[in-house]
Amino acid sequence: MSPHPPSFYHPAPRTLSFCSQCGTRLNRIIPPDDNRMRDVCENCGAVHYQNPLNVVGVVPVWENKILLCRRAIEPRHGKWTLPAGFMELGESTGQGAMRETLEESGVSIRLGSLFTVINVPHAEQVHFFYLADVLDPALDPGPETLEAAFFSPEDIPWEKLAFHTIRSTLEHFVADSKTGAFGLHHYEISAPYPG
Ligand SMILES: [Zn+2]
Repeated sequence: MSPHPPSFYHPAPRTLSFCSQCGTRLNRIIPPDDNRMRDVCENCGAVHYQNPLNVVGVVPVWENKILLCRRAIEPRHGKWTLPAGFMELGESTGQGAMRETLEESGVSIRLGSLFTVINVPHAEQVHFFYLADVLDPALDPGPETLEAAFFSPEDIPWEKLAFHTIRSTLEHFVADSKTGAFGLHHYEISAPYPG
């Protein structure tokens, strides 16, 4: 291990090296009565299960314009996103979506209906986006955001969006806006977003 702290921090890989309970190096095996590889500690017996992570976000709307945030962090630094992020322990999907919106844009919202549920198995994630009304459009972006702005549907920067789930959620929103009927869209994205 390096004696010097890193110049930046990043999420650890999902595959674990050492037991979080006793520090022993882990083995990758299929435990008895299981059906897939797990990181298992042969010293203390702990099985380190890994499961998909939930990403929660919103489509925040103010006077028919959509709030987008330009990312100040990797991955996809400089690209536009809907307010979204990883759900934290102890909060609901709706609470997480509201928290992320406040952190990334400074905007407070009233949460509406669940709008998209997107399975992203190659990223080991499930994304949930809610519709939301912006209560006060005053922007105050946090450190994860270069800038935040409201876009008319015809001005959405389609070529500069950060993630496939952002693009497809916005596509559904624009399509549903034309009919006025906002449904729940549940689907899977099976390939990484180019770029
Ligand atoms: Zn252990």
